[in-house]
Amino acid sequence: MSERAEKTEINFSFKCPICSEGKIEISKVIYDVPDGDKMLIIKFECNVCNYSNNDIIPLTTNFTPGIMKLKVINEDDLKSKIYRSPVGSLEIPELELVVNPGPRADFYYTNVEGILFRFENAVSIYRKNLEEDDAQIKEIDKILQDLGKAINGEFKFTLIITDTGGGSYIIPNDKSKYSFEKFEPKELN
Ligand SMILES: [Zn+2]
Repeated sequence: MSERAEKTEINFSFKCPICSEGKIEISKVIYDVPDGDKMLIIKFECNVCNYSNNDIIPLTTNFTPGIMKLKVINEDDLKSKIYRSPVGSLEIPELELVVNPGPRADFYYTNVEGILFRFENAVSIYRKNLEEDDAQIKEIDKILQDLGKAINGEFKFTLIITDTGGGSYIIPNDKSKYSFEKFEPKELN
């Protein structure tokens, strides 16, 4: 992105795709990440219904490979922003959930809640395809139950992103619950 492009102000609004009555308002915020990098957060909000969405765009490319951990204790922590690059793996050990990096891995611009909803959807589909006498069902139902609690902020867990190439981010709502551990060069081999 050139400097000139960064300075260009784009002011426009469009009709809400959900209620088709409201107008979507766009706001931009530049956020300083704890390690000194900057992220651009673009927020879309309808002025009539509850629709809102946001995009997170990293503005700097000085990424450090490492392990990011976020402790999720309450509903507020669910709003923490997550950006997982294609080389990052995402894990919630307490819920036995893992997203592996790979050529087909999606970029995730979302928040913790968004990740839980994706997991819930994927696990529910998996559950529906099991035979009723499948030995896994009990375990799967327990995971779905815990996921439901997690979505309501009633289940404590740790969200871990391991990124060997750098580029992933967690933007915590509460910085005291976030930790980052740099990879030592030898661990990259
Ligand atoms: Zn709307």
